[in-house]
Amino acid sequence: MRRAVFLDRDGVLNEPLIRNGLPHPPQTLDEFRLYPEAAPACALLREAGFLLVVVTNQPDVGRGTQQIEIVEHMHALLRERIPLDHIELCTAADGHSPGWERRKPAPGMLLDAAQALGIDLGSSYMVGDRWRDIDCGKAAGCTTVFIDRRYAEALRQRPHHSVENLLDAARLILKLKQASSVPTVLST
Ligand SMILES: [Mg+2]
Repeated sequence: MRRAVFLDRDGVLNEPLIRNGLPHPPQTLDEFRLYPEAAPACALLREAGFLLVVVTNQPDVGRGTQQIEIVEHMHALLRERIPLDHIELCTAADGHSPGWERRKPAPGMLLDAAQALGIDLGSSYMVGDRWRDIDCGKAAGCTTVFIDRRYAEALRQRPHHSVENLLDAARLILKLKQASSVPTVLST
């Protein structure tokens, strides 16, 4: 079984568009900009042996306000810059859309990726910038790391850890991994 870091996309790897204090996905390829720390943070995680799996809700596709081709082009650009092992995408916009049951905060995308890639969810991490990511990670049994971008919305469940950006998240995960691999010394 392998360990993974599950990464939300918007607000974690790339800059979201902010309206009224809330993040929205970029609409055009021009607006799709990676944070400068995204590639180095992912490189650290990969060197430490983690699989990198993006898990993203893109309901604008289901609503018909975004084209799937543009989202796929964004993901091709993402893969050029970051060596990802897998991308899970949920385009469902409402309960009638196919794939709705996988939409975060449901854990379906993590469970599917775990089955496909042989991932041990209990020793894996979910990194996200919104409550849906945290609740999804917890439902899957992962350790959750919240990137606090100070949006105008509250979390619903308490994350295991809270950081400022993806590089801090990566450093934290490496520290936690190291701590968990230190052999337990029995006290006498
Ligand atoms: Mg996000």
